[in-house]
Amino acid sequence: MGIGLGKAIRGAASRLPAAWLRPLGRPAAVFFHGVERRIDDSRAQSNHHDSAAFSQIARQLKEEFDVLPLAALGAVLRNPERHRRAIFLMADDGYVNNLVEAAKILAEFALPWSLFVSTAHIDTSEPNPLFLARLFFLFAESGNYPIANLGVLSLAEAREKAADEWCARLKALDAARADEAVAAMRAALGEDALGALLARFRSDAFLTWPQVRELKAKGVEIGAHAHRHWPMHGAQSGAYLKEQAQLSRRRVEAEIGPCRYFAYPFGNTDDVCREAWQQVRDAGYEYGFTTLSGSLDAAANPWLLPRYGLLPLEPSLASLVPALRAGNARLRQWQRTLS
Ligand SMILES: [Zn+2]
Repeated sequence: MGIGLGKAIRGAASRLPAAWLRPLGRPAAVFFHGVERRIDDSRAQSNHHDSAAFSQIARQLKEEFDVLPLAALGAVLRNPERHRRAIFLMADDGYVNNLVEAAKILAEFALPWSLFVSTAHIDTSEPNPLFLARLFFLFAESGNYPIANLGVLSLAEAREKAADEWCARLKALDAARADEAVAAMRAALGEDALGALLARFRSDAFLTWPQVRELKAKGVEIGAHAHRHWPMHGAQSGAYLKEQAQLSRRRVEAEIGPCRYFAYPFGNTDDVCREAWQQVRDAGYEYGFTTLSGSLDAAANPWLLPRYGLLPLEPSLASLVPALRAGNARLRQWQRTLS
């Protein structure tokens, strides 16, 4: 999601009563990452909702919307006027806390949801590379660190700012160069310190395949979130993009069953290139989800559908969701540049 646009939508929506906005409603997709009983450090656990806040989100979804399983998406897209209150709820990445906290809360409210897993991480339990980088930026001792493909990083005060700036530069690298950079950060942090941080922040541990099967058995639809959790932008080779689309589908199909849906890692304008969505189409997925804001009826391209990322606190979803259509012009413009 474009931060500026999201803020503008939120600001406008929060000043209007939900009853005024409801008739403007259009079907939409929203997503989260993980849910923890307690967040110890919001800088390191920025991907996770606190259980109480997530319950409040689930309650609003239940009371204000028709939350539908992804199998209904085709029917909704064919007749969006008839499905103004339709919402598709999704989780990305595949964190183990989905099985513990999210699944419990969503079952309490009887809400269907889908989970998009980055299959290499489910295969190996290797942490998300950007999470490792964030741990380095936030917790490495102050000093100067030569990091492959990024230069000499100077860490002192203002760690959160450094983390945001350097993570953006890291994300722009192709996967092989990013791996070298993250390996240098791991080495600089030291395996002992890293092990202690990973033990402290279990929130970012990935599910195993048997655990993904448990979620599937509870009715959760399983889609692919690429093989590795890294952007599918233009710095990547064609072979890499093809593998991300095809291998993730093969892994889900081998372990779980049919895999019809894809969500792009990070999923914003800087993270998805033309060849990425074409590979997703050619790999046989029926739909692909980005993280641009918009309503589902606006999407001309079924492999570049909009999706709204739920913030840690969402006190006014009844107003916010109908206002998501304000992002449609930008979404369509972006789809045109990638066509
Ligand atoms: Zn992700």
